[in-house]
Amino acid sequence: MAWHNRTKIVATLGPASNTDAMVQQLITAGVDVFRINCAHADHAAIADTVRRVRRIAREHRRAVGILADLQGPKIRVGRLRNAEPIYLKRGVDVVIDCTPGFVGEAHKDGSICIGSGYRGLARDVRAGERMLLDDGNLELRATSVEGERIHARVVHGGMLHQFKGINLPGSEVSASCLSTKDLRDLRCVLANEVDFVALSFVRTADDVVQLRRHVRRQRSDVQIIAKIERPEAVRNIVSILAVSDGLMVARGDMGVEMGPEAVPPVQKRLIELANRARKPVITATQMLESMVLNPRPTRAEASDVANAIYDGTSAVMLSGETASGRHPVRSVRIMEKIIRTAERDVYARMGDRRRRASTAAATVTEATVRAAAYAAYEADVRLISVYTETGTTARMLAGERPPTHVIAFTPSQRTMQKLALIWGIVPLKIQPGRTSHELTLDGDRILRERGLVKRGDRIVQIAGTIRQSGLTNTMTIREM
Ligand code: PEP
Repeated sequence: MAWHNRTKIVATLGPASNTDAMVQQLITAGVDVFRINCAHADHAAIADTVRRVRRIAREHRRAVGILADLQGPKIRVGRLRNAEPIYLKRGVDVVIDCTPGFVGEAHKDGSICIGSGYRGLARDVRAGERMLLDDGNLELRATSVEGERIHARVVHGGMLHQFKGINLPGSEVSASCLSTKDLRDLRCVLANEVDFVALSFVRTADDVVQLRRHVRRQRSDVQIIAKIERPEAVRNIVSILAVSDGLMVARGDMGVEMGPEAVPPVQKRLIELANRARKPVITATQMLESMVLNPRPTRAEASDVANAIYDGTSAVMLSGETASGRHPVRSVRIMEKIIRTAERDVYARMGDRRRRASTAAATVTEATVRAAAYAAYEADVRLISVYTETGTTARMLAGERPPTHVIAFTPSQRTMQKLALIWGIVPLKIQPGRTSHELTLDGDRILRERGLVKRGDRIVQIAGTIRQSGLTNTMTIREM
């Protein structure tokens, strides 16, 4: 078995990649977690995709996670007559009609009306506020609001296509974080047993708590990833992180909502906070954007991926590159190579990061995983093996950023898939055993069979006392 990079790769599936052959190649190239964007997938397609990924991952004997990304209160331009784009010229007046089902068009007399799928838009926008369309490529300024109609003037013009996003950087959007569509999508993705659900446009911890309530009601243990893209979310990050299982630095909408200059410092802060909390953090969007068209990334993009690793991200994500680009597999291969090279370089500094991020060990398990990471630094060990039911011990150990790979043995397929997102963890399946001795014998056999250790290699092993589930309290250093 080849050594795996420690930083994980999340790849978005879409028309360019959602086939058996492509999923196989993407897994071989290094994808750890596939992302399904619920904004663009119907329920039959979601079920097909989950079945496909599970089947191919099983064939490859790999733990591959699936993350379903809920659209959240994303505001979009409505339908345009005959799907014809409209050219918005600088200085021209535009009416945005928020009546449901309104179809936009450019009239012969030169007036332009467009619709918006979000009825509350006219309530949330005030005269004088900016409205950014199509990822911020077009800008309007509201001049007045009358009932359901917003009058606006074009500040930065360009071609507007139907269904493009609308961002309101200065306003507080009043829409609930979970729309009716999100709740329908949530039921579908939970029924299909995805491993992670990402919630878009989170503003407060309560948004995550509401989602958690729906998840519990459906008796799911899915992990919740809060997508941080709104300024309110950055302000409320400590309380949001406390109730989430992980974060996504959603740089696309963040750059529109907060300005591109806000992205680098926010990225660094979110990664630092998530690392301290021992929770995974995904750095997302435009990482290798030019590869949507080109076979090679720009040097700036290569630096961006490497810098996210230097910052300490758990995972890096591809969106359009794998969903609709011309070179999905090549994008993953290049990302894998950038990660491998950056990790070799950053390796020596990991110990410093670990010590900096360390706070006092509050529990026996924390003290044990810290001892294991310390031993791995000091005792020239080949790997750390950990026996884990729920994955919690493995996650805590990853938070210590140990210098070797961590093999997480678990009898649970579900735990394996969740660990696919966790930095430095290689999840492997083990038979459920009754005693620690049985587990160790089985684990050692797997390590040898997979060529992960050879005779004489030193390993660190951590485990719990079987009778006290959830308590990891033993660390051993031994020779194979
Ligand atoms: C983002 O905005 O960066 C993001 C990941 O969300 P989406 O791709 O859903 O717009």
